[in-house]
Amino acid sequence: MSPLPIVATLLHYATTEPLRPCVVVENHVITYRDLAAASAGWATRYRDLGIARGDRVALALPNSPAFLAAYFGAQLAGAAVVLVNPQYRHAELSHLLADAEPLIVVATDENEAILREAMTAPHPHLIKPDASLCGASPVDPTAFSPPAADDMALIAYTSGTTGRAKGAIHTHASLAANCDAVIRAWRWTEADRLLLMLPLFHVHGLGVGVHGTIRSGASLELHARFDAELALQRMADPAITLFFGVPTMYVRLIEAARQHGVPRHRMRLFVSGSAPLSPQTFADFADLFGQPILERYGMTETGMNLTNPYEGERRPGSVGMPFPGQEARIVDRTTRQPLPAGEVGEIQVRGPHLFRGYWRNPSATAAAFTEDGWFNTGDVGFVDTDGYVHITGRSRELIISGGYNIYPREVEEVLAQHPAVAECAVYGQPDPDLGEVPVADVVIRSGIHTTAQELIDHCRQQLAAYKRPRQIRFVTALPRNAMGKVQRHLLGIDPPVAEEQR
Ligand code: ATP
Ligand code: MG
Repeated sequence: MSPLPIVATLLHYATTEPLRPCVVVENHVITYRDLAAASAGWATRYRDLGIARGDRVALALPNSPAFLAAYFGAQLAGAAVVLVNPQYRHAELSHLLADAEPLIVVATDENEAILREAMTAPHPHLIKPDASLCGASPVDPTAFSPPAADDMALIAYTSGTTGRAKGAIHTHASLAANCDAVIRAWRWTEADRLLLMLPLFHVHGLGVGVHGTIRSGASLELHARFDAELALQRMADPAITLFFGVPTMYVRLIEAARQHGVPRHRMRLFVSGSAPLSPQTFADFADLFGQPILERYGMTETGMNLTNPYEGERRPGSVGMPFPGQEARIVDRTTRQPLPAGEVGEIQVRGPHLFRGYWRNPSATAAAFTEDGWFNTGDVGFVDTDGYVHITGRSRELIISGGYNIYPREVEEVLAQHPAVAECAVYGQPDPDLGEVPVADVVIRSGIHTTAQELIDHCRQQLAAYKRPRQIRFVTALPRNAMGKVQRHLLGIDPPVAEEQR
């Protein structure tokens, strides 16, 4: 049987425990009843504009209670939500709006003009939140019945790390299967409160953070954006028990904690995902905060796939094992046959949490799945003898140098161990002789001096000769997107900083 849609859980608590806190924002408590009633208010607005089952509503809103109500409201009205990063500019918006063809776009005063410019015919309605806390006046939510589990709930565009962003279609059932697995794995209960500083327009903040909270009857404290010092202060609140972040957020938290100290707290779980967490960050954080970060692995298309154990050993450099009810395996990248432990190949996953296909892209959908339902993640890794999965990189990032395979991540981890290296990214550069050679862009920790030769020598001691970067380029920052992911197609474009600036 398909699991109940998440918006149905919202309606359930709104009736059975209406006063239960759901979202806390700037000291306002929004109860389950408040959020459900505001969502019904949004659903009424959408229906008045003609929204019907299967239509799309695009949300280009910053983190706010209005985002949440506009999101659940669209689902109550039977629509599928398209998530839009409110920072997007013309090129990104015109691709997304032309592809998703929403009937309604929800925007703010700040991005209204830019959205209007990017809209193509047929022009969607552009609406804005009203002045109420949740952006729409409340309506009795019991007037709405929840959507069918197999209806389209969300079109989430991938981060566009490896190419043009693709719209992954999730149904209410796939989203619910996802968060139900997460709740079981991490023992999420109504006693938890999540400190949420991730963007809501990405599945990490929305699909894990918001869905998990509502499904378990818990609460979350919502912030507009990540701020390391504020995060440390808020962790001192005994009500806060969970924090989810991307690796760069943990790097910033460590820096802030070194400066200001770690407050007394009741945090029971710190989770990292969206990009590889370096073993160095894992170790530094455990030293300071007295608990190991739980690393997990997920994708827009699949939600959560793999997790280190909640109880039991959390291994640095590993993303753990499949969530309950899901499967994962490693296959040979050419023969597509399953590989034994220790051998490197492509990661495939299977289960009820998978997306249903790419929006209006049947060829990408067909290429993504095998006949028996495995999804080809495009990520490369291996399983160790204890069943822990290690990700070594992405298929498309692989550098082939003189016939040898080099996974950038392995070289990046060695470089990151050098005390002068704050951040780095390794990529292939064309070479007439070897096809490609590895090159590293490096951001230096302030106040520590090093040279390119010293870093190359450091790699030489720990890696086979062909993996050693042929060139080190010192840069002031790596090109990262809103989720802190290195945008690999932008590496090597900015010129390196001059020697004396370091
Ligand atoms: P696109 O598919 O458009 O190129 P993207 O894959 O970066 O973009 P997302 O779906 O946001 O878009 O990110 C999923 C990817 O993030 C995974 O496929 C994987 O490469 C990476 N990732 C997520 N968690 C981890 C992790 N813990 N360790 C290493 N990589 C991770
Ligand atoms: Mg991807």
